[in-house]
Amino acid sequence: MAENQLGGQQYLILPEGANRLIGKEAQRTNIAVGYAVSSIVRTTLGPKGMDKMLVSELGDIVITNDGATILEEMNVEHPVAKIMVEIAKTQDKEVGDGTTSAVIIAGDLLKNAGNLLDQGIPPASIIKGYEMARDRALEVLSSYSTNVNIDEEDKLLRVAMISMGSKNIGGDHTKKHLASLSLQAIKQVAEKTGNKVSIDRDFIKLEKKEGGSLEDTSFINGVLIDKEVAHPGMPKTVKNANIALLDVALEIEKTETDARIEITSPEQMQAFLEQEEKMLKGMVDKIAKSKANVVFVQKGIDDVAQHYLAKNSIVAVRRVKKSDMEKLAKATGARLVTSLDDLSDLDLGYAGLVEERKISGEQMIFVEKCRDPKSVTIFIRGGTKQMVDEVERALTDVMGALASTIEEGKYVTGGGSTEIEVALKLRDYATDVGGREQLAIQAFADSLEVVPKSLAESSGMDPIDTLVQLRSKHKGKEGKSYGIDVYKNTTADMDKQGIFEPLKVKEQALYSATDAAASILRIDDMISSKGRAGAGAGGMPPGGMGGME
Ligand code: ADP
Ligand code: MG
Repeated sequence: MAENQLGGQQYLILPEGANRLIGKEAQRTNIAVGYAVSSIVRTTLGPKGMDKMLVSELGDIVITNDGATILEEMNVEHPVAKIMVEIAKTQDKEVGDGTTSAVIIAGDLLKNAGNLLDQGIPPASIIKGYEMARDRALEVLSSYSTNVNIDEEDKLLRVAMISMGSKNIGGDHTKKHLASLSLQAIKQVAEKTGNKVSIDRDFIKLEKKEGGSLEDTSFINGVLIDKEVAHPGMPKTVKNANIALLDVALEIEKTETDARIEITSPEQMQAFLEQEEKMLKGMVDKIAKSKANVVFVQKGIDDVAQHYLAKNSIVAVRRVKKSDMEKLAKATGARLVTSLDDLSDLDLGYAGLVEERKISGEQMIFVEKCRDPKSVTIFIRGGTKQMVDEVERALTDVMGALASTIEEGKYVTGGGSTEIEVALKLRDYATDVGGREQLAIQAFADSLEVVPKSLAESSGMDPIDTLVQLRSKHKGKEGKSYGIDVYKNTTADMDKQGIFEPLKVKEQALYSATDAAASILRIDDMISSKGRAGAGAGGMPPGGMGGME
């Protein structure tokens, strides 16, 4: 219940029983909730990070190390927790990697803001200081980064390997295999205009089927469709396929209920069926005339049409997803045709081989050996469903990391080295700035160090000692790329070790962490409102979800 007082009169502006937190209390709660969310994913950071097992109400199990997936599956209720989850989603969408880092940085930005609030610094000054720090950090990052181009495969493969580092998907040999498949796929779909390279990750299809081993995961120079050939009489293999893509039903449209056809005699019935068959045969004739020997149809194919297609030795696949049709078009050069009358040989695409193969007891259609396809597939195999799912998530991250690195043409060193360097430069900057913002900029620097700190912790190193060591290394000339060697449990030169990460991932993490922290700090009044689902009584448990360190 909330009341307002004005001139002795009392106004009731919220309904009885409504939840409300105001001022410091709201800020305290929100900071605690945000920090609690970040603490959940913190232990998964880096190659020595742990996995989480998530079990749904239905008993589905997800075992993963992927920050975005953990948060998404967790099904959080509190609105501030939802903002934290949003960070991971944005990070995933924009760059495909660095989700855990972004979330834990945001968590520490909140925790440190809590300390500043205790010292009487107003939220507006904290936010301003954080934003100044972010902008300065972006400048430092950019001058700290190294250039790389799409042909420097050794460096790019390192980026891919590091991105996969923390995923539990087999040993080094397997990871190298997956890294090189990913790079091959990325290079194939990359489009160059001048010296700009753009990569549309949507056109790298990740298809998965449990069975076989991780090493069987393969690159397909074309598209793999999880469908079967429509009719047993059709060929299972077509070499030099001329492919038509049809957004047309190879069926006679069913008559509407109010337009019933009256059939009164067997002769009439016969004539009607013959008429139908003639129309379907006519459709197939048009396809045959175009010289297509493989057709992918977005809609249905009538049995009679299937029969005629088979007679013409044309392979047909029905009810193909729209997204697959688009990928087929990009891979084969075919044009999607919406009317059979328009179909000509100019609309056809090409694939060196179209083949139906039985994979773990199910039919799949391989459209491969395409000519310079701008849409390709990685076919993931592995012992269990959990394994192929985790490989899919890992490959999504790798593709994001590779695409970001190639598009921006820059990388930085990992293992916490970049965060230490940026933090160091921010502390100098804080002194220059002075005033209230100084403390916020320092707090921002401290928050970035949560990355090396967490990496040290998961390697069993003393986090404070390690930070002190790294800071002093970075102050010297030679130690600019010192970070944590998580395998040897010591500090080392990350540049020499080839621990490379995309600059863009680090930049995006700064943006999303700062934005999320700022928007959470701006809230000084939490009112549970009716309306959108998920809000309401359960939407805001007073006291938050957990405490702080
Ligand atoms: P995120 O979701 O943030 O990408 P990860 O679990 O993938 O989280 O961990 C990324 C962090 O682990 C980065 O800071 C990266 O530099 C570090 N890292 C990955 N591989 C290594 C390695 N071999 N040595 C040191 N640090 C590594
Ligand atoms: Mg990662």
